[in-house]
Amino acid sequence: MNTMDESALAIARGAVGFMPDDEGLALYEAGVRAAPVGPLLEIGSYCGKSAVYLGSAARAGGTVLFTVDHHRGSEENQAGWEHHDSRVVDPETGRMDTLPFFRRTVERAGLEDVVLAVVGDSPTLAAYWTTPLGLLFIDGGHSEEAAGADYDSWAHFVAPGGVLAIHDVFEDPDDGGQAPFHVWQRAVDTGGFEPETQQGSLRTLRRVKGSPT
Ligand code: SAH
Ligand code: MG
Repeated sequence: MNTMDESALAIARGAVGFMPDDEGLALYEAGVRAAPVGPLLEIGSYCGKSAVYLGSAARAGGTVLFTVDHHRGSEENQAGWEHHDSRVVDPETGRMDTLPFFRRTVERAGLEDVVLAVVGDSPTLAAYWTTPLGLLFIDGGHSEEAAGADYDSWAHFVAPGGVLAIHDVFEDPDDGGQAPFHVWQRAVDTGGFEPETQQGSLRTLRRVKGSPT
C-alpha cells in the first residue's frame, strides 16, 4: 500500500482538529484509491487536519483537493458547545476564524499546490459546481439540516466508481449525533452507493450506479 509522506503525517498529527490518526490514514487510502476517478472535495476544512491526509492522497494520485468551509465554525464549535476551542476565536471580532490556522497547516505540510481552499457556504458552492468528483468527504455541519443539505447538494457529483466518505458516523445514539449516520443510510438505500470500509467513525462507500435521490 502506498504510504503517506512522513513529514506531512507529522503535521497532520500535530494539527488542531477532529481527525484521529487511524481514521485520517483510512481517509488517505480512500483518497489514493479515488484519485484516478477525479479530484477530491472536502466539506469542513476547519484547521486543515483532514486536508493534510486528503491533500497527501491528491499529491500521490496526481490530482487536487478542493476544500470548502466558511471558517466560522459549526453550531457544535461555538462557545459553550462541546467542540469549542477558544484558540480559534478572533479577538477583534469575537467570532471564530479558522482560516489562518488552516493556511498554516497546509503551508507546513507543503501542500499549497494541491490543496485549493474555497471560503464560503458549502451548498452555495455546490449550486455553481459542475466537475465530477473522485471523492467527496462530508465533515461539515453535523446537524440533520446541515449534513442533509451537504449530501443533497454534493452526492450527485461523485462519479461512478468514485468514493463518498462520511465522518462521525455513529449507529448508536449514545456514541454521538445521528445525522452523519442518516446520511450514510440514505447513500446506501437510495443513493447508488455501496459500503466499502469502516475505520472508527469514518465510513467510505463507492458509487456503483445511478444518481443519488
Ligand atoms: N475536517 C476537520 C473538522 C471539520 S469541523 C478536521 O479534520 O479537523 C466542521 C467544519 O464545518 C467547521 O470548520 C465549520 O466551519 C464547517 N461548516 C459548517 N457548516 C458549513 C457550511 N454550511 N459551509 C461551509 N462550512 C461549514
Ligand atoms: Mg468530523
